[in-house]
Amino acid sequence: MTKAVRRVLIAGGGIGGLSTALALRRHGIEATVFETADTLRDGGAGLHLWSNGMLALAALGVADAVRDIAPAQQSCQFRTATGDLLGNWPVGEFAERYGQPTVAIGRSDLHHILRTAAEGTEIRTGATVSGYRHDRDGVTVEFADGSTERGELLIGADGVHSAVRRTLAGPEPARYTGYIAWRGAATVGPDVVSPGTFCALFGHGTRFTYYDIAPGRTYWMSVANGAPGGRDGDGVVDMLLERHRDWPAPVAELLTATPEDTILRHDVVDRAPITTWGEGRVTLLGDAAHPITFNIGQGACQAVEDALVLGEHLAHATDPVTALRAYEHERMRRTAPLQRMAWRIGRMGAWENPMAIALRESFMKFSWNRFAFKAVERDQVAYALRYLTDPDPAR
Ligand SMILES: Cc1cc2nc3c(=O)[nH]c(=O)nc-3n(C[C@H](O)[C@H](O)[C@H](O)COP(=O)(O)OP(=O)(O)OC[C@H]3O[C@@H](n4cnc5c(N)ncnc54)[C@H](O)[C@@H]3O)c2cc1C
Repeated sequence: MTKAVRRVLIAGGGIGGLSTALALRRHGIEATVFETADTLRDGGAGLHLWSNGMLALAALGVADAVRDIAPAQQSCQFRTATGDLLGNWPVGEFAERYGQPTVAIGRSDLHHILRTAAEGTEIRTGATVSGYRHDRDGVTVEFADGSTERGELLIGADGVHSAVRRTLAGPEPARYTGYIAWRGAATVGPDVVSPGTFCALFGHGTRFTYYDIAPGRTYWMSVANGAPGGRDGDGVVDMLLERHRDWPAPVAELLTATPEDTILRHDVVDRAPITTWGEGRVTLLGDAAHPITFNIGQGACQAVEDALVLGEHLAHATDPVTALRAYEHERMRRTAPLQRMAWRIGRMGAWENPMAIALRESFMKFSWNRFAFKAVERDQVAYALRYLTDPDPAR
């Protein structure tokens, strides 16, 4: 049977774009990836990859490489700024339940694994997609330098500020959440951070999260409310130490063990779910389609799931346009609730009012161990079992 799709154009060489190239190659579909950066690489800092993301990575053939370097997480702890335990989630059990652990990894390490696995795929760096035109037979991608490229399909995996999305849905700035994230990685031993332990501390309008992403390497993130567009001068470590003064160990140890010039600052943005991800032979994927704030650690996991599901739909397509719409329908149902949940948790984490915070702590203490973890496991993690029981989720 002749394939309905032979070559796809992908805007964006991030986790979503590279996963898509891999997913398509499993089905004999070629891809060309256009990446705006001059070299193909992802930034520093870390990612928590839940078992659902790992199952999707396993289906793409790269989970072993991830597990080789990424520490398996045993527990996720949630605490107050004074260290009181609010909830303790034994996520180490997931490895047995789902066949893949929940792990933590450096972003650039995951990117490197995907890039290596995708070797042979045509990747053009320094290529900034600015828009597209489409007709019944194909898509013409337009680049910022005035050049164009014709292809059968276009996948917009170009992140939260996607040019493909802008052409599709019109200009709409991303939604600022009201908080800023500072991120870094510290070199500390197991005496400072127990391997396999994720910890999130909730304060008044500020939070601190940390977990190990490699032996002796711990990623951390400090989040605080503030106006967007700010910049740090010298003394960012001192500023963070002051913000988290009197917070429990190892917060201060992590901050002081991080070279100041490696700390990243990031206004956190997302978008509300939308109901149109594509038109004709064009679709969106990953953050371009459904940016999910870091609050549930699912953004990258969902980008990989998208790639897998898109590949399955296109592999069995008799009509690629119908296949794209079916992919969008399936993935919107999965990702819209996650976008909303991440937004709500982010709002709750940003509370400053002492009464509201006391309520939040009582609520977390009462319900997270009893109900919330089970519900989240069912809705977010167990979903991906379908990749094991039905390797072709599109059917
Ligand atoms: C602070 C923070 C912490 C996070 N923690 C987690 C976590 O623990 N777990 C998790 O699963 N997710 C997490 N996420 C979310 C995760 O980072 C994203 O969901 C994921 O990176 C999305 O991948 P993507 O490929 O869709 O987009 P991106 O990673 O944004 O990649 C888009 C790519 O497209 C390129 N590009 C942009 N514009 C153009 C253009 N016009 N033309 C060509 N190329 C272009 C970019 O250079 C980039 O390489 C976190 C996010 C943040 C901000």
